[in-house]
Amino acid sequence: MTATILDGKKIAADILNELVDEVADFIQNNGTAPTLAAVLVGEDPASEVYVRNKRKACEQVGIDSRLLRLPATASTDDLLELVAKLNKDHEVHGILVQLPLPDGIDSKRILDAISPWKDVDVFHPENVGRLCQDRPRMLPCTPHGVLQILDRYRIPVQGKHVVIVGRSDIVGKPLAMLMMQRHSPLGSQAANATVTVCHSHTPDLMVHTRGADILVAAIGKPKYITAQMVKPGTVVVDVGINRTEAGIVGDVDFDQVREIASAITPVPGGVGRLTVAMLMRNTLLAAQNQL
Ligand code: NDP
Repeated sequence: MTATILDGKKIAADILNELVDEVADFIQNNGTAPTLAAVLVGEDPASEVYVRNKRKACEQVGIDSRLLRLPATASTDDLLELVAKLNKDHEVHGILVQLPLPDGIDSKRILDAISPWKDVDVFHPENVGRLCQDRPRMLPCTPHGVLQILDRYRIPVQGKHVVIVGRSDIVGKPLAMLMMQRHSPLGSQAANATVTVCHSHTPDLMVHTRGADILVAAIGKPKYITAQMVKPGTVVVDVGINRTEAGIVGDVDFDQVREIASAITPVPGGVGRLTVAMLMRNTLLAAQNQL
């Protein structure tokens, strides 16, 4: 079996095209554009690329973006002051603080300080709590991207066994929440999956990964998931983005696993593209929620 390649690039382009009309409607009805403020601290090259891509996507769909830079020497208080200013600014609907922040800055305090209404990354404890209770304002970008890929390829999730390797606050945990949710929030499908979450203390990882109907890798280790860890016919979603000497690779050994999976996301060109598209969706939602 050779897997269907789940083309994240195309799906992201479709979503951005859909947003062009929705954003134009918003502007026409409200006389103002949804606006995203991106905060970049220091000069981390990967962060520069991520922020550039996000601002490019804003431009593509008609969202206004502002870039606010602070030097790497900035303190937690400097950043708190900037966030407070953006919280009060009625022309700013979404605030994105690009992670990771330089050592010495208390990231949790910064993320907690962002207004939950403007929290387009869905990191604020209030929004995480709402997600857990099936009543989110917005959906977390990368997990929502995973659902969009499955949804648009008509891969059923309901009743399936979804195994997620990784339990981070950004990917694994919120994805587990979305996968097990009972309702269908904000236009995504009601997932109703049975979810197993694995992490670095999980013994016999392979026993779990081989039990998956849908396997999601969010580990941060290049090509960690090998063919022998995957049951034939599994749908494999690779969230990993690892910079190696050979270029960017995922957490899944793509060349091996594509031979036995029924469907697989590539890296690059998979989930990463969706993350940015879902950030655009959240910025529009945030603007609508603040009317
Ligand atoms: P984290 O480092 O925060 O989390 C990694 C998770 O993997 C942890 O829960 C860790 O377990 C688990 N893990 C590590 N080693 C093993 C192992 N040997 N066996 C089982 N579990 C293991 O990473 P993120 O969740 O932030 O990111 C994961 C990957 O996804 C990275 O490559 C990142 O670049 C990428 N990413 C991609 C995005 C996209 O847009 N496509 C967005 C965000 C991230 P433990 O908790 O026990 O330490």
